[in-house]
Amino acid sequence: MLKKTKIFQEKDVLEFYFEEVLELQKVLEYHSDLYYNKDTSEISDKEYDDLLKKLEQLEKIFSDVFLENNLEKKSNKIWAELVESTFKKVKHSRPMISLWNTYNEEDLRDFDERVYKNIENSGWTQGITPTDFSRGESCIHPNNLINYTLEFKFDWLWVELIYNNWKLIQAITRGNWIEWEDVTQNIFQIKNIPKIITYKEYLEIRGEVVMPISSFDRLNKEASEKWEKVFSNPRNAASWSLRMKDNRITKKRDLAFFAYDFWDLAISDSYYECIKNLEKLGFDISSYFEKAENISKVIDKIHNFWDIKKSLDFEIDGLVLKVNNRELWEEIGYTQHHPKYAIAYKFPAEILTTDIISVVHQVGRTWTITPVANLEPINIGWAIIRRATLHNYEECEKLQVWVGDSVFIKRAGEVIPKIIWVANKDSEKIIFPPIKCPSCWTEVLKDEEKVRYYCPNNNECFEQKKHKLIYAVGKQGLNIDWFWKAQVELFLKLWIISDLYSIFKLSEKKEEILKLEGFQEKSVNNLLKAIEDKKNISITTLLIALAISWVGKKTAQELSKLFTSSDDLSDFSYNIEEIEKLDDIWPEISKNMVEFFTDSKNKELFKKLLNILNIEFYKEKIIENKNNIFFWKKVCITWSFWEIKRPDLIKELEEVWWKFVTSVSKNTDFLVAWEKAWSKLKKAEELWIKILDLTKFKKEL
Ligand SMILES: [Zn+2]
Repeated sequence: MLKKTKIFQEKDVLEFYFEEVLELQKVLEYHSDLYYNKDTSEISDKEYDDLLKKLEQLEKIFSDVFLENNLEKKSNKIWAELVESTFKKVKHSRPMISLWNTYNEEDLRDFDERVYKNIENSGWTQGITPTDFSRGESCIHPNNLINYTLEFKFDWLWVELIYNNWKLIQAITRGNWIEWEDVTQNIFQIKNIPKIITYKEYLEIRGEVVMPISSFDRLNKEASEKWEKVFSNPRNAASWSLRMKDNRITKKRDLAFFAYDFWDLAISDSYYECIKNLEKLGFDISSYFEKAENISKVIDKIHNFWDIKKSLDFEIDGLVLKVNNRELWEEIGYTQHHPKYAIAYKFPAEILTTDIISVVHQVGRTWTITPVANLEPINIGWAIIRRATLHNYEECEKLQVWVGDSVFIKRAGEVIPKIIWVANKDSEKIIFPPIKCPSCWTEVLKDEEKVRYYCPNNNECFEQKKHKLIYAVGKQGLNIDWFWKAQVELFLKLWIISDLYSIFKLSEKKEEILKLEGFQEKSVNNLLKAIEDKKNISITTLLIALAISWVGKKTAQELSKLFTSSDDLSDFSYNIEEIEKLDDIWPEISKNMVEFFTDSKNKELFKKLLNILNIEFYKEKIIENKNNIFFWKKVCITWSFWEIKRPDLIKELEEVWWKFVTSVSKNTDFLVAWEKAWSKLKKAEELWIKILDLTKFKKEL
């Protein structure tokens, strides 16, 4: 397609034959599909626009021919589709900076001390007598040289609004970690965002879009009734809602915007005054917005904050502390990634007590049976917790947990709540492992070495099958959009699907699905298209989607080396010793692999899969990525980067076949790090290991 694109770019409109115009339509369709549906592109925006313009002219020139032959003009259509269904990628002007995080008072006092030190070093205090300016433990100074503001820390969906000549002219948000998207049309649907303000100059307002917990609950309730996606937290729900192609949906979602940053409101040096002015302009700001004259007062306020937090209808994850005097911001300065005049105090994990009502035994994807406690419902943040895991039966014994006991449960961030210890013994029943599988009534076996109980009926057990298929279509595996857990379960119950193959054949069941309550043509079509798109599949993804016990992403990558052609799948011939030669493959996995791939039922499945899938085997992948510097190299990545999450980095590396190591040793090839990772950096330097910062790293990818 690229070659054709080039030819057409260079050609003048007068040189085109009619047949070529039809070709050009295809070229443009190809590029818009890449850009808007697959989030990638092979040509620049400018080149794309030029081609589109050319097509428009050509369709005009050949207008009669189109009419005579009853052919469709595309230039309008392509354009219309783009406008309606996509967000333009845009640039943002000021860099986005993140804040230092802390969880304790000690750090806050250190922060305060650094602020004073930086001001002193900047020379800003010259001429101020020592009595005016003192620092240290109490940090009290007569002239209120430094005071702080405290406001909510939202961890939501970051949005920048641009105003000029009284009007809201553009809104952008982060598409991914590099690109920014224009979401102006959708932002117009949010009620509490002023579209016209009483300020004429150019003004950028930054803040976050949130979904109230009450709306979130309602949305999830409606979604589960209609077999649609249920969101794991309000943040995801807000993000999804803001990016709806159909902005009428955004309107229904009851989103709200809170402002906390601006560029530039030349009204006052006081940050507090400026934010208060935003309120006058019509923006909602953090409903908790306080001034504190020194760090001790700040800490007092944080202590008193708990009651306020409970009454909020949206989730916040802490408070932000900023030096109020904006004139000082430049003096105090910035590190490469953070401003030094602000810090976020994050709330620690919440621990609460509740009672265990009963214990159920859950069968998972990997045969293992896990005890899960049903709890007296308890509200933690925005979520009502009804269940918590007990991990395994040995753990129950260790903690001495019985049904009826009160227990402490801990929840930090989005992690599944965990029972940590018994608060009060009011025991009714000891928790014993089940004798029969709660799903298929097969007798449960005990794995002596690993202290786990499992259901051996791994081909027929409903619960196992369900979890395997959920895993197969989920993020880890095929990553099929529009295929929710509840749907998998329903389809399995109704015999619409039974295994991986049947998922790929789902289009044959379309009529049947449409007869079910709550399923609409449009969403079913989306699902079927999403499945269709996954038929081009790498062998690694297929290995994950097969949900073989103990085969996760990394193992699948290693194991994929065994599959260089379809023969290796249809006629697996490796023995245990051969498999163990691969890195990090334990005997248990290799034994399992041989069993799995030589099982006659599975062989049947592979045969069918080979018929409908277009599988990329190992060799082909090698040829494609051989020249990349990370190809089959050992790479260590340090924890935190300010603009990208580590899992995202890892994902990008996985694309080019790398090996990930958690610590630096002489066998490491690269260290991707930023300045804060002192110890790893030092070690890497000593060992002459190549160190990359994020920019260099992205360049090499
Ligand atoms: Zn079972």
